[in-house]
Amino acid sequence: MATQTLSLWINGQHTPSSGKRLAPVFNPATGATVRQVPLANQADVDLAVATAKAALPGWRDTTPLRRARILTRYRELMEAHQKDLVRLISEEHGKTLLDAAGSLQRGIEVIEFASGIPHLLKGEHAEDVGRGVDCHSILQPVGICAGIAPFNFPAMVPLWMFPVAIACGNTFILKPSEKVPSTALRMAEIFHEAGLPAGVFNVIPGDKEAVDALLVHPDVAAISSVGSTPVAQHIYETAARHGKRVQALGGAKNHAVVMPDADLAFTVDSLIGAAYGSAGERCMAISTVVAVGEVGERLVAALRDKAASLKVGPGTDDAIEMGPLVTGAHRDRVRGLIDAGVAEGATLVLDGRGLKVKGHENGFYLGPTLFDHVKPDMQIYREEIFGPVLIVLRASGLDEAIALINGNPFANGTAIFTASGAAARRFERDIEVGMVGVNVPIPVPMAFFSFGGWKASLFGDLHMHGPEGVTFYTRTKVITSRWPASGEKKAHGLAMPTLG
Ligand code: NAD
Repeated sequence: MATQTLSLWINGQHTPSSGKRLAPVFNPATGATVRQVPLANQADVDLAVATAKAALPGWRDTTPLRRARILTRYRELMEAHQKDLVRLISEEHGKTLLDAAGSLQRGIEVIEFASGIPHLLKGEHAEDVGRGVDCHSILQPVGICAGIAPFNFPAMVPLWMFPVAIACGNTFILKPSEKVPSTALRMAEIFHEAGLPAGVFNVIPGDKEAVDALLVHPDVAAISSVGSTPVAQHIYETAARHGKRVQALGGAKNHAVVMPDADLAFTVDSLIGAAYGSAGERCMAISTVVAVGEVGERLVAALRDKAASLKVGPGTDDAIEMGPLVTGAHRDRVRGLIDAGVAEGATLVLDGRGLKVKGHENGFYLGPTLFDHVKPDMQIYREEIFGPVLIVLRASGLDEAIALINGNPFANGTAIFTASGAAARRFERDIEVGMVGVNVPIPVPMAFFSFGGWKASLFGDLHMHGPEGVTFYTRTKVITSRWPASGEKKAHGLAMPTLG
């Protein structure tokens, strides 16, 4: 049977790419190529932008209440199609069905948040800012917005962006990861079915060529992106240089501090899920543990026992707890980093390199791996691994743990496990990281808060979804008005008006 070739989604319909470049889409559980994806070129980007531009005036003039009703219908349909979407996510990414369902649910909650847009778009009003003068502000759409998404959350990360942008009255072009394109295309079909006018939401699978064309396109007003730090920095700098509003989320190295008074069983359960869930391919995965004081030996022994018992295999099998990595190339990179950790003298407590999954010998698997006695100058500490590898460093006290985390260039998420309110409060105040958990390993903010890291984990000023998402996708206009009664003649002279 011939391999299916996907298309772009432009103007409410499947549209073939005008170019010839194609990339394989794998099922990581088997290693097989399941379909091919076109890589959008300059002409495809131009077409998507022209389409989004044509749709903008009508969508901008659609009242927020009517936009909200389409979003509500979209949420209902996404829920109705949840099972198929979850299968698609798992098929192209490799994560388990349960994990895929959780991530989809978190994405759908952003649609739910965006359905409240009439309330969220209310400006401010002040009467009598001067005698007979009132002042009010309005929030208007910024125009054509583009989103660039990573492979690791085929539904959730795009959903952080486009429902909010579209609810605010913008039109949108999504460039999903070329490794997992099908979910985004399916979400576009469902949005269309929910009543979204053609051209408001467009999807163009592609790679650097499509991204770079969007970053410099004069008609694109705003760029939201999520990916690795070098790509985030490139996107931020290029798009900003071309006059666009940008939020570019980057990579991560999320530390969990474990204090000696932490409940060990609860902490180990939490850390195992946060380190090995989704095979460690989460931007909020805990990849680094800082064991404080005497807890180290007990903690590492318990982590090793639990990690060694995890069931690894195809994510579509209900008994499986951890799936494969996304591609063979990524699996080989992670394996190379494990080799580097061994060569640099870290203690390899559990080695996942030899894992074979029976019946799936060509899948991109790597078993759970655990390192102890890692030092800050080692490559496995300095680099984001993005795989099922948990590293443990030791610290003598909370001060040393906080200093270590604050010295790391990444600052997406972090967590502390402790029974002490004082330690937790100190950590919460002094840690220089965007999202913090207290006995919560993956503190991903709910849709009605905003998601974002600090330092090398986010370039730009505003986080995604929640109130900051609305701020990002709107421009504020402030109107000062005066309605002189007939006969009232006195206006300001040539002096700077001071409305007193
Ligand atoms: P990536 O940086 O390789 O790719 C991200 C996107 O940029 C993709 O759409 C890709 O096609 C495009 N891209 C890749 N190289 C490019 C280049 N040179 N120029 C322009 N565009 C380019 O990331 P990935 O491997 O898809 O995803 C994993 C990374 O994303 C990890 O570093 C992870 O931490 C990060 N991530 C961060 C968050 C967050 O919230 N901060 C969330 C999810 C993933």
